[in-house]
Amino acid sequence: MDPFGRHIDYLRVSVTDRCNERCLYCMPEGYKGWAQRADHLSADEIVRIVESSTDLGFRKFRLTGGEPLVRHDIVDIARRIWELPGVETLGISTNGLMLRELALPLKQVGVRSVNISLDTLDPATYQKLTGGRLQVALDGIEAAAAANFEIVKLNCVLLRGINEDQILPLVEFGAVRGMPVRFIELMPLAPGGPINDGHFFSITEAMESLAVHDVLDPATNKPAGHGPARYFRLRRRGAHVGFIGSITCADFCATCNKLRLTADGKLRPCLGRHGEIDLLPALRSNNVTSSGLADAIHDAIANKPENHTFTDDYQNHRPMTAIGG
Ligand code: SAM
Ligand code: SF4
Repeated sequence: MDPFGRHIDYLRVSVTDRCNERCLYCMPEGYKGWAQRADHLSADEIVRIVESSTDLGFRKFRLTGGEPLVRHDIVDIARRIWELPGVETLGISTNGLMLRELALPLKQVGVRSVNISLDTLDPATYQKLTGGRLQVALDGIEAAAAANFEIVKLNCVLLRGINEDQILPLVEFGAVRGMPVRFIELMPLAPGGPINDGHFFSITEAMESLAVHDVLDPATNKPAGHGPARYFRLRRRGAHVGFIGSITCADFCATCNKLRLTADGKLRPCLGRHGEIDLLPALRSNNVTSSGLADAIHDAIANKPENHTFTDDYQNHRPMTAIGG
């Protein structure tokens, strides 16, 4: 339990801050955090941290980044985590570009759920927003469907003036594939670039725009997952849709059950607050005791703030891609 009575059993593990895309809301122009390679965790170190966390009751894990699939040893990392006693679920978040080659190997080593970013079905907008090719991401989504993961979800960051016309098309795209789409409010984690507060589009507005076309019934059973989304079912289309109101939902943090591990070895109790606990001393000193890591994880839980303060101050060197989404 953290100081606010929340049961913390979910670790999001960022395996890299590198990416093969460059989403305007995630990675600021010129970001090159990965230049400090020496600080980045090895596969052995990631597995050791996950193992320590299972001793403390962590059960759910998600690999993320940056783009986790650009790491050459990602399948091996997933396999080693899944084989640890105490690990109950393992998911991965990806932009989908490398799923054509990696969906099946990831499924075979135990990955249960895949979240794939898809902000638009318009190739030109996709290219402008991410720097990548839509068709490659779509091929990856089909590969994920063919690999028979327990659950595949699509994630869309809402951006006024850029993709609000894509809300219904994305829901329909997901519906025919049995993939819930989750709409996420823009968090100010890469400001100073071309995406700014003027692009903010709330989940309330997204719900209103869907309600013009269909009826949103609150979902009685939430699609598998541990995230903060509120789910609805579109009555006529049968689609499941999730809404993540990180900015506008007053009780957003009340059920937060996670810590984040950054690719450079910091535990981050809250995405929207600066505090981080450095695991490298416990991990790399010559006279390490296994309790060193456990103490650091305890510390992170004890320092988990009650809520985020996204808008108060921004850390230039910690955009979303560096923290781990
Ligand atoms: N590269 C993978 C991907 O794109 O799914 C995993 C990492 S990414 C940082 C994880 C999620 O964070 C994605 O769904 C992405 O859209 C979301 N994200 C990134 N920057 C964001 C921001 N500023 N506000 C809201 N969501 C953001
Ligand atoms: Fe890369 Fe994912 Fe960030 Fe886009 S959202 S730049 S794909 S890490």
